[in-house]
Amino acid sequence: MASANSQNDIVIVGAGIIGLYVALALAQRGHGRSISVLAEYLPGDTAVAYTSPWAGCNFSAISGTDANAIRWDKAGYEFLRGIEATVGDKSFVKRTPSTEMWDDVVPHDKIKAMSEYLENFRIIPSEKLPKGVVFAVSFTTVTINAPKFMEYLHARLQNEYGVRFQRQKIDHIASAFTPSTRIVFNCTGNAARSLGGVEDPKCYPTRGQVVLVRAPSVKRNMMRHGLDHETYIIPRPGTSGHVILGGYMQKGNNDGSTYKSETESILERTRGLSKDLRAGQLEILATVAGMRPSREGGARIEREQRAVHGQQRALVHNYGAGGTGFQAGFGMALEAVQHVEDVLATLDTARTPARL
Ligand SMILES: Cc1cc2nc3c(=O)[nH]c(=O)nc-3n(C[C@H](O)[C@H](O)[C@H](O)COP(=O)(O)OP(=O)(O)OC[C@H]3O[C@@H](n4cnc5c(N)ncnc54)[C@H](O)[C@@H]3O)c2cc1C
Repeated sequence: MASANSQNDIVIVGAGIIGLYVALALAQRGHGRSISVLAEYLPGDTAVAYTSPWAGCNFSAISGTDANAIRWDKAGYEFLRGIEATVGDKSFVKRTPSTEMWDDVVPHDKIKAMSEYLENFRIIPSEKLPKGVVFAVSFTTVTINAPKFMEYLHARLQNEYGVRFQRQKIDHIASAFTPSTRIVFNCTGNAARSLGGVEDPKCYPTRGQVVLVRAPSVKRNMMRHGLDHETYIIPRPGTSGHVILGGYMQKGNNDGSTYKSETESILERTRGLSKDLRAGQLEILATVAGMRPSREGGARIEREQRAVHGQQRALVHNYGAGGTGFQAGFGMALEAVQHVEDVLATLDTARTPARL
């Protein structure tokens, strides 16, 4: 039976990149006016408990080696390239040359899978590798100005698709269901560990400190997967030469403070990696720390049925994106949406043309 079209048919809890991608995947299928996004923090906000604005951010081989990660990455890369090609600078996504290096364990099978779709993919000959590096590739990545890209998606979801955003903190996932709600998407990131009705003990934060600098000579994305550190240089699209330098992957660490010793280590490691950074002027603009929403076993994309308001309703979990919410998140969103095809088919939603 079709329900009367209501803005609360679909409720998305969370307005980080994961909630925004789910809203976009649904809106592109014509469900924009059936969606309310509820979140304590919205695009434009900054808070330690809101991970997305702190992301570097790029597409890289830092993601997991499992079949899910490989599939989500591919969908994410295609999506981001499509956004860049159709929207251009206003999306704050940019195709950028990238070099990625490994000092130790090289995920060859995964790199092979990526080589089949990454633009301009090349293996760098071993005689050209810097000291300590055992394998390296170059390709065209997508770099993303994370806070600006979120603001772009936020505006587009509201203005083009009629998605409603509401600032609200909930204590229990059941509170997201109004009497007319048919589906709730749980996109609460790190909060999935403590949110009532979810309380997933597999979730944990992975802290990263980054340094935002102005270094206009840097045009290339560089990453080095070291023995003890992840080191990366990411030029930020749509800025006057801003570059993110990182970083750290500190499992289980929820400390939002920043540390001078870490800033110094980041500057030393990134200068060692890039002659452009060594050659040009470098002005430190900010030092920040963010918590990647990690999860043992990888992200959870799963549907369950909950009895609410005397009805069985669909609850779709989509959290635990770790360090790859921007690159893999659109693939995750498509999969989360597939879990409720049966319910979506019953919604009486005015269709709008599907566009990128
Ligand atoms: C330093 C750093 C570098 C990174 N670099 C990259 C990169 O290069 N590429 C990449 O792909 N990813 C990168 N990431 C990872 C990426 O940022 C995360 O995977 C992503 O931001 C996770 O998004 P999320 O929507 O799950 O969580 P969040 O952004 O934290 O959003 C959670 C949302 O849920 C809401 N919420 C939570 N609890 C409640 C509640 N009880 N009631 C109401 N609302 C609630 C919050 O208010 C918020 O809106 C990086 C992360 C960090 C920290």
